[in-house]
Amino acid sequence: MSSRIHDYIWTFANQGTLPSDSDQERLRKALLTLIASGIAILAVFWGALYAVAGYPRSGAIPLTYAATSILTISFYLRTKKFEFFRFSQLALIVVLPFLLQTSLGGFANGSVVMVWAFFAPLAAMFFSDNRSAFGWLLAFLALTVLSAVLEVTILDNAPTMSKSLNTIFFVLNMGFGFAVIYVVLLYFVRDREQSHAVALKAREEAIASKSALEQAYKRLQDNEVKIRELMLTDPLTGLPNRRHLDQRLEEEVKRVRRFGHSVCIVMTDLDYFKAVNDTFGHAVGDATLQMFSHILQDSVRTVDFVARYGGEEFVLLLPETMMDGATQVAERIRQSTAEKVIPTTDRKLSASFGVTKVRGDETIYDAIGRADKALYKSKEQGRNRVTCVS
Ligand code: GH3
Ligand code: MG
Ligand code: MG
Repeated sequence: MSSRIHDYIWTFANQGTLPSDSDQERLRKALLTLIASGIAILAVFWGALYAVAGYPRSGAIPLTYAATSILTISFYLRTKKFEFFRFSQLALIVVLPFLLQTSLGGFANGSVVMVWAFFAPLAAMFFSDNRSAFGWLLAFLALTVLSAVLEVTILDNAPTMSKSLNTIFFVLNMGFGFAVIYVVLLYFVRDREQSHAVALKAREEAIASKSALEQAYKRLQDNEVKIRELMLTDPLTGLPNRRHLDQRLEEEVKRVRRFGHSVCIVMTDLDYFKAVNDTFGHAVGDATLQMFSHILQDSVRTVDFVARYGGEEFVLLLPETMMDGATQVAERIRQSTAEKVIPTTDRKLSASFGVTKVRGDETIYDAIGRADKALYKSKEQGRNRVTCVS
């Protein structure tokens, strides 16, 4: 079939569909339109064949059938009332074998017509729900019984047809009958494929959205880790900031309270640092702070904790360390700082230190305050020195 004819037939079949119909509804409506039209055309052909063969009375029945069917089809295509169409077509299909049998004149001639017997229940099932399909089947059986009764009691109009004419009817019936069965089966296959494709797509979409969600969640987690790091880190030196120091110190105080461990803190502050900024500029001041932070980090153990406490003030937290040990660390740092010059200048650098031991019965602010006091003493006594307060 050329694609133009195909398009034309498809357009015709879809005349009765509504824009709001689902794909499945559209296909069902188109299919019933096509089947009904096909049977009507066949019936016209059938009636004409009878008339030509010299049996106008037998021909009148399929022609009447065709006229009725064409009326319901046109009514449906015009009004789009599918319920009416479905009902009238089912009624026609149910009475069709009966009519054809009457037209042919008896079971002997009409046996091939029983091919149509497949259609009534099949069509009823296809275009109705199960309950009404059963009703249609009963109606069909009742009419068949009625036609048998009529056959035996009243009718005796069997036209004597030539063998070749009988054969033509047989071929027409079988051919068209199986064509309709083929189309209906095709519909089921297509319907299955469609719903399979829909299910497959839905699955793919679900998988895609799941992995997108997982990725978003992972990003969120990564961001949270980054944000937490940023919150606890000083951007200039990369050292833990005061917030981080407070957390660590809190833990250390608890440990001192519980296990009686010895923890010391060293607070240090660069000497005359304001002058460094004022004389050489902020960039040199920043470089000095970075250099000093390296000196601090290089002078302690890995278990020790170095934090930038404020502008040019730093705090060392030294677990498992006694006062004299902490004092030695501070002294060592003081010396190596005093050996350095301020970057890009030949001005000497120095820092002052305050050392103290953390007690189990105090807050972190008490401990920091004492270290600050010791540092203040170093400043007071001329800077570039270490003072201990226990
Ligand atoms: P001293 O401690 O010896 O008594 O004198 P000082 O000049 O160091 O005293 P002070 O604590 O008043 O000065 C701190 C200065 O540190 C002030 C500010 O210019 C500088 N400062 C603080 N934070 C930063 C920073 O992030 N970058 C730079 N370049 N300078 C900073
Ligand atoms: Mg200072
Ligand atoms: Mg200061």
